[in-house]
Amino acid sequence: MKGDSTKSVHEAEPFDEHTGSLATPIYETSTFGFRKAEDVPIVVGGFGEKGYTYSRWDNPTVVTLEKKLAAFEHAGAGAAFSSGMAAISTSVFSFLKRGVHVLGIKDLYGGTYALLHDILPDMGFGTTLVESSDFEALERGVKKNTRILYIESPTNPTLKIVDIRRAAKLAHSSGAVLMIDNTFASPINQNPMDMGADVVLHSVTKYINGHADLIAGAAVASKGNAHRIKMMRRDFGGTLDPLPAWLILRGMKTMAIRVRQQNETAMVLAEFLSTHRKVARVNYPGLQTHPQHKLAKRQMKGFGGMLSFEVKGTTMDAMKFTDSLKVATLAASLGGVETLVSQPYNMTHTQLSAKERALTGIPETLVRVSVGIEDADDLVEDFKHALAAV
Ligand code: PLP
Repeated sequence: MKGDSTKSVHEAEPFDEHTGSLATPIYETSTFGFRKAEDVPIVVGGFGEKGYTYSRWDNPTVVTLEKKLAAFEHAGAGAAFSSGMAAISTSVFSFLKRGVHVLGIKDLYGGTYALLHDILPDMGFGTTLVESSDFEALERGVKKNTRILYIESPTNPTLKIVDIRRAAKLAHSSGAVLMIDNTFASPINQNPMDMGADVVLHSVTKYINGHADLIAGAAVASKGNAHRIKMMRRDFGGTLDPLPAWLILRGMKTMAIRVRQQNETAMVLAEFLSTHRKVARVNYPGLQTHPQHKLAKRQMKGFGGMLSFEVKGTTMDAMKFTDSLKVATLAASLGGVETLVSQPYNMTHTQLSAKERALTGIPETLVRVSVGIEDADDLVEDFKHALAAV
């Protein structure tokens, strides 16, 4: 099998027989013409395999991206979406039927939490969300009608690790599918399909695109499950446009080298922070002190570019820290080349009540860091200087 950097550059991007164009062309079109009426049923029935009809259904630039994503996640096929939340909600809905129960963990991205905690119950679906570090609670949460087990690992923003192999076994023993949001790890650091996951979801906005300049999402799965999700996408309508698909293909050329660098720098920063007297606690799965370090080592190829830490003191101290940074920027997203910091309590996790934030380990003093590709020394210096201002 080819290495990740070779795949980043070449995978799923065939030589363009028409022009020899090195870059995959952008097919910026809403619809596709037919020469003969008799071709219509063949193309329409071929679901993008026999030609194209309409870009909400399938588009050649988007299909190239889907093939590349599926190859990275060792999946049969993929579906690209206009946002990570479009990928998540459409995939969840494609496995819902009247009377179905959804089980998940509490430490989810805010939008996913809102979907499983509020939106689905309001529609009449039963959902149960349990503590992610308590696997027995997940086992107890399974019901006869559970059809989706939904997890994230590492979790956002506390970097807890969920045992993916065990979760897949649990899901399958009760006839459910395991869906996992793999955004934080990226396909370079973790491949959940190899551990039994059925649907792997990404906010492509993050590490896959890597340049903080667009919003996109993806679901990858077996051919059958990906087809099921694509059919729902056709009608829900959250399909990705060709232009951002092309930008993502360009961003992906450097995905492996970006992510490997981010893994390395995150480790340096986590080690620096864990010895600092103004830091109460560091959450990074690569640290031996992380309570699930061994599990992370078993299921991840790299520990990722995300970490979080608690500044000693009050919310004002955490704010003083973020305001004093000169290289890193205070911003909500993650996974790009620039180092970003955020205070999840008042930024990305406001969908959770104050009590829920406390229960999931999100104090006001928690700072989340998405490590970019700047030089590690510059970042350590920046953090040192900002902590001195606290
Ligand atoms: N999953 C995770 C882990 C995220 O961090 C985010 C966004 O921050 C999403 C999903 C949603 O993705 P998008 O913003 O692309 O809709």
